[in-house]
Amino acid sequence: MPAVHCLTPENPVELAKTSTRGKDFHDDRDAAEKEFYELRDELIGLQTALYAEGRQKLLVVLQAMDAGGKDGTIRHTFKGVNPQGVRVTSFKKPSSEDLAHDFLWRIHRAVPGRGMIGIFNRSHYEDVLVVRVSNIVPESVWRPRYQTINNFEQHLADTGTTVLKFFLHISKKEQKERFQDRLDEPDKHWKFDQDDLDKREQWDEYQTAFQDMLNNCTTDHAPWYLIPGDQKWYRNLAIMRVMVDTLRKMDPQYPEADDLSGVQID
Ligand code: ATP
Ligand code: MG
Repeated sequence: MPAVHCLTPENPVELAKTSTRGKDFHDDRDAAEKEFYELRDELIGLQTALYAEGRQKLLVVLQAMDAGGKDGTIRHTFKGVNPQGVRVTSFKKPSSEDLAHDFLWRIHRAVPGRGMIGIFNRSHYEDVLVVRVSNIVPESVWRPRYQTINNFEQHLADTGTTVLKFFLHISKKEQKERFQDRLDEPDKHWKFDQDDLDKREQWDEYQTAFQDMLNNCTTDHAPWYLIPGDQKWYRNLAIMRVMVDTLRKMDPQYPEADDLSGVQID
């Protein structure tokens, strides 16, 4: 079942023809939510074992348009997970120190270590998205980055990191509703950013950049998952299914305990 949104190198996608509606994949919201909570309990158990085992690493990458649901996904799917074993990194505009290095420098420092789950809220993919659309560097610089990224992720895979990449695909209409919600509700004003409206004007350019990212950087070792994002309940379930399925396959084991039978506590 998790394979349903998993892209393959052989089948490039056309974003404009790909549904953003969870309802096209699931017609029962109550059942979806029930399954989500069951899977989240399982995730909590699997993460505890991953941390105790201290051997494998899982990296979860999230990319989306503004208001696409990156923050909500992290909040809902990791609720209850032991914070000690999870590290969220939000990649903002690069600092002057970041810019003095190659674009992967700040990324590599944030990848998960043994036993950890690393979550990237935005990622190295910004360097072929905003950087491309805003013309921060010329095409001769950003285009070779697809290959650089594939090689980097291959290196992570070769050194024991499982990489999951989720693109949260929302419609332009849904983004408008979410922005409006942020304007209408005082508690959400802090989420509103004028800059997001400028990016909305470049919607088509962003869709092209996302599509090229998906098609150029879906590899066997690190495929993209194209998640319909308009219904949050479906988005959360679709991502949770992939994460739990992946962790089941990683099959983390609690380390063998020493023989404790003779231990006495004074
Ligand atoms: P929220 O969704 O809660 O608003 P955010 O991720 O949008 O969070 P912001 O501080 O609003 O956080 O925005 C971060 C900005 O940094 C984004 O506009 C993003 O495109 C930009 N950014 C990230 N990486 C790079 C990069 N490598 N080069 C240039 N800009 C970048
Ligand atoms: Mg923002």
